[in-house]
Amino acid sequence: MNRPLRVLFVTPEAVPFAKTGGLADVAGALPKFLQPLGCELKMVMPYYRMVKESGLPLRYLAMEMDVPIGDEMLRAEIYQAELKEGIPVYFIGRPEFYDREYLYSTPKGDYFDNAERFIFFSRAAIILCQRIGFSPEVIHHHEWQTGLVPAYLRSIYREDPLFSRTAIVFTIHNIAYQGIFKKEKFSLTGLPGEMYNPEGIEFWERINLMKAGIVYADAITTVSQKYSEEIQTPEYGYGLEGILRKRREDLYGILNGVDYQEWDPSHDPHLIARYSPEDLSGKRACKKDLIKEFNLSPSLEHSPLLGMISRLADQKGFDLLAEILDELFTLDVGFVLLGTGEEKYQILFTEVARKYPKKAGVRIAYDNRLAHKIEAGADLFLMPSKYEPCGLNQIYSLKYGTIPVVRATGGLDDTIVNYDPATKRGNGFKFSRYDPKEFLDQIKAAIGFYYRPEHWGQLQRNAMEADFSWERSAGAYLQLYRRVMEKKGLSS
Ligand code: ADP
Repeated sequence: MNRPLRVLFVTPEAVPFAKTGGLADVAGALPKFLQPLGCELKMVMPYYRMVKESGLPLRYLAMEMDVPIGDEMLRAEIYQAELKEGIPVYFIGRPEFYDREYLYSTPKGDYFDNAERFIFFSRAAIILCQRIGFSPEVIHHHEWQTGLVPAYLRSIYREDPLFSRTAIVFTIHNIAYQGIFKKEKFSLTGLPGEMYNPEGIEFWERINLMKAGIVYADAITTVSQKYSEEIQTPEYGYGLEGILRKRREDLYGILNGVDYQEWDPSHDPHLIARYSPEDLSGKRACKKDLIKEFNLSPSLEHSPLLGMISRLADQKGFDLLAEILDELFTLDVGFVLLGTGEEKYQILFTEVARKYPKKAGVRIAYDNRLAHKIEAGADLFLMPSKYEPCGLNQIYSLKYGTIPVVRATGGLDDTIVNYDPATKRGNGFKFSRYDPKEFLDQIKAAIGFYYRPEHWGQLQRNAMEADFSWERSAGAYLQLYRRVMEKKGLSS
């Protein structure tokens, strides 16, 4: 089939325009890799202040749209940029909604009008298609902020021929954030009243926008196979496990890719030295440089150096780490952490750095350059997450020959294979139970192999050989698009 497949991406964020998390990396990368596979892509996202101030070339389209919200018609301005040649990104502008310091929440909590902001956005994305005359064969929309898109297409826009041959794929990047609002907000959507019921958008007498995506999309994906299974259980499903189990035939896990142009020690401009699996001497230079960066004891050069880069959030397992830190520092190890987030963890780790000034380095910041230096300079990378839909840092770590110690959850479980000294297979260390002792045991196991070069060298080679490029993931998404179209009888 030679004709390109018309695909619309509807996303609340995308690199390089605006980012709060891994979703932005996916939305900014996946379209670029789908295009050469034969997709004609267009994207739509909100015109946040962050976009306006990004310094990227954007143009204002003299095309305004009126978007119904409740009884009102609200005006949207449209801006446009290119993700790359041939992939236009349309930005839905409304200063009252999006010209703000943050995307969804301030350090004090969520914006009070997130329902209005994203009901407006979801509907505007559909009206945009009408205005530009784009008839997508696939709409791929992401996270709760866009959850209403299929609800609209199945109701208000049902008769519009523009969408009569459209398959809808919804991706959940993190089910802990669902977009739950008071039921009074339902009237803002303009959706028919019957959609407000427990089989639809209602969620315990409130509305749940992620649930709308799950109920009304043709297929649902998450960012790893394991997470797609986990979210069907009460422990991980955050109340949506029942509806997901109902839709399990249409639920898929597709692992995110990573951008090896950005994350590869053989050509990483942020490093003091570059290296490859054939010659790891550059990694030793990076370790020395990292020890210097954090002003740690130079003698650590010959001891295992443990690294972490993370949002400081409960999800990431910092409570487990907190419980083992003192015991950890009785061992001959160094520890470096880069992160921003919850104040309690900022205080905790600042205190750790004070208590162990020669062994522990902590930087409370968002710093991409330092993130690269940690990936390269550390020996072990710690990710004891409570849940982890996909996780990127463990995949970067593999490429940098930095051995991950992870909890076996979500994408961590799908990407990390326990090292087996008998077969010399495996690329890291993992533990199952959310338990500090299990975590510490795996760190100790890893340290044991660190001092046995024949095993450590093998582990590093195994890790660096793994391939999680976007080409693979993009192929899987395209296959899914085709499968969904076929299932709906839409194959051309
Ligand atoms: P999540 O999306 O849950 O935050 P991921 O591991 O999927 O976790 O992705 C996190 C991304 O953000 C990675 O690219 C990581 O390097 C980056 N990152 C997180 N915290 C920081 C920080 N403080 N400084 C620099 N980069 C960070």
